[in-house]
Amino acid sequence: MTRPILDVHELRKHYPVTEGVLRKEVGRVRAVDGVSFTVDRGETVGLVGESGCGKSTAATSLLRLEKPTGGRVVFDGEDVTGYDDRELKRFRRRAQMIFQDPTSSFDPRMSVGEAVAEPLRVHGMRDRNRRRAIVGDLLDRVGLDAADFDRYPHEFSGGQKQRIALARALVINPDLVVADEPVSALDVSVQADILRLIERVQSEFGLALLVISHDMGVVREICDRVAVMYLGEIVETGPTEEIFEDPRHPYTEALLGSTPIADPRRRGQGTVLTGDVPSPSDPPPGCRFHTRCPAVIPPDDYDVSSATWRAVLDLRLRVETEGIDLEAVEEYVTERGEAGPDAVTEAIREEFDVPPELPDATAERALSSALDAVVAGDREAAVERLAAAFPTVCRQRRPGFRLQGRDLDADQWTAIRSLRTWLAAQCNDDPQSVAALLAERESAGRRSADRSSDRRRQEDAGTPAERRRRVREAFGVPDRLPDGDAERAVASALDSLLSEDYEAAAATLYDAFDPLRAAACHLEADAPRDAPGDD
Ligand code: SF4
Repeated sequence: MTRPILDVHELRKHYPVTEGVLRKEVGRVRAVDGVSFTVDRGETVGLVGESGCGKSTAATSLLRLEKPTGGRVVFDGEDVTGYDDRELKRFRRRAQMIFQDPTSSFDPRMSVGEAVAEPLRVHGMRDRNRRRAIVGDLLDRVGLDAADFDRYPHEFSGGQKQRIALARALVINPDLVVADEPVSALDVSVQADILRLIERVQSEFGLALLVISHDMGVVREICDRVAVMYLGEIVETGPTEEIFEDPRHPYTEALLGSTPIADPRRRGQGTVLTGDVPSPSDPPPGCRFHTRCPAVIPPDDYDVSSATWRAVLDLRLRVETEGIDLEAVEEYVTERGEAGPDAVTEAIREEFDVPPELPDATAERALSSALDAVVAGDREAAVERLAAAFPTVCRQRRPGFRLQGRDLDADQWTAIRSLRTWLAAQCNDDPQSVAALLAERESAGRRSADRSSDRRRQEDAGTPAERRRRVREAFGVPDRLPDGDAERAVASALDSLLSEDYEAAAATLYDAFDPLRAAACHLEADAPRDAPGDD
C-alpha cells in the first residue's frame, strides 16, 4: 500500500454563535469536531450519518469551500488548510465536488455543454473547439450524447442532470471527487443507474471517491470503506462488508437497523433509537450518543435490563433539561379519573416506559425518592438525586477511538496518526527538514518547559537516539508502545524520517495501520480518556 491521496486528521469546523451589536461570541456550533479518515487512490469511502451530523460540512471544509477551524487535510503530500488563493485554484483542479441537487447546481441560462466546459475555461483552456470535443466525449461516457452540448438543463430529467454534474466534475481530470448525497434527490427508479454509473466512472478514471450519504444502502452499494458520523464526530470506521456484517458501535447498529435489509435472517433485528438528536451547539458530555444509545452502560451495581436502564436515563435527562410538565401530567391523570401524587408518579413512569417497580431494590428506592421530588415540584432535588443514583460512564468520559486487534489506547493511536499525517504532508517537492519540524512542534511546548531541559535537548540534538526521542515527544508517541507491531512500525518510520525519506516513513505507517477497524465506544475500550463536562 502507498500513502493515501487524502488524509484528514482531527478536522474541525465550528461556527461562532454571536449576540448583541458587538457580535460577542457566546457559543459555538461544533458542526465538525475532530474528524479523521483517509481515502486511497482508486478507493471509494463513504461518510455516513443522519442529517445534520456534519458530514456535508466535513466535505466542504476538507475541500476548502469553507475554511476549517482546525485540523490537517493532507492531499497528495501537501496540507491544504494553509493554502492561499493561487494554491487553492490548483487544488480545485484536482479535487471536485458533486452536489446533492443537480437542478440547483446548473445555471438555467447556460447550455449543459457550456456548464460542463466551464471548469476548463476557468483553468485556462481557451480553445473552444477543444473544449467542445472534450465535453462531447464526456457526455458520451456518462450515458448522454455529444449532441446534448447545446441543450439546456430544463430539458433533462433529474437523473440526466446528475450525469451532467458527474461529467462536469470529471472534465478537468481530478484525482478526488466528493459526491454529496449523489442520489438522494433522484427517483428511486434511477438511483441504481446513477450509482452504477458512478462506480463505472470511478474505476475507469481511477478516482478516489468520497461519498457523503445518510443512506446505508447507497454506501453498501459502492463503498470500499465506511466512516460513520454522529454529531460532528466519527464513531466507527472499517471495510464496508465488515461494518455491515459486524457493527461494533451502537450507533452504526441503529443506522443499520433503520435500513431495509435483503437478508431475511437479519430482518427485524434493528434497534429503534429514542430521544432527539442533540444540538451541535451544546453537545452532550462524554459520549455524544449517550442520550439515545440503546446500549448505554449502567452502573456496575444495578441489576436492570438495558431497556429499563435506557428508560430511567431518558427520565433523568428530561428532568435535567426541560423538566417534567407537571400540570400536563396532572391534567392527563384527572382525565383518567385518578388523582394524587401516586397517580402522577405512575403516569410519569408510563410516559418514559419505566416499570412500576424496578427489579433492583436500591435503584427503585433512589428512583422513587427522585420522583417524589419531581411531584413535589422540587426539580433541583430531583436532578441531584437522579444524578447521584444513576450515573453512567458514557456520560462521564468521552470514549477514545480504539483500533480493533491493537494494544493501543486512543491517545497512542491519535499520536501515531498525528505523526503519520505530518509525514504525509512532507511528501512533496518542498519538504521541511527534520530540524525545522522539531523546532515547529516544540516551539509551543518550549514556552512552558523548563530552560535546563530545553538546553539539554539542543545539546543532544545531533545524536540519532535523542532525535528519535524528540520526534516521539513532539507528537506524543510514547518511548515504547505496548503493541509490538505498532512499535516496530513506528521505529522503522523514525529511521526513514531521520534520513529524511518521508515517503518511506509515511508508507510504513500507512501500511502498518490501514485499513483497520476502529470504534469509539466504552463497550470497546479499556482505558477511556477523561473529558470535560463530567456528571
Ligand atoms: S460509549 Fe458506547 S455504550 Fe456508551 S453511550 Fe456511547 S455508544 Fe453507547
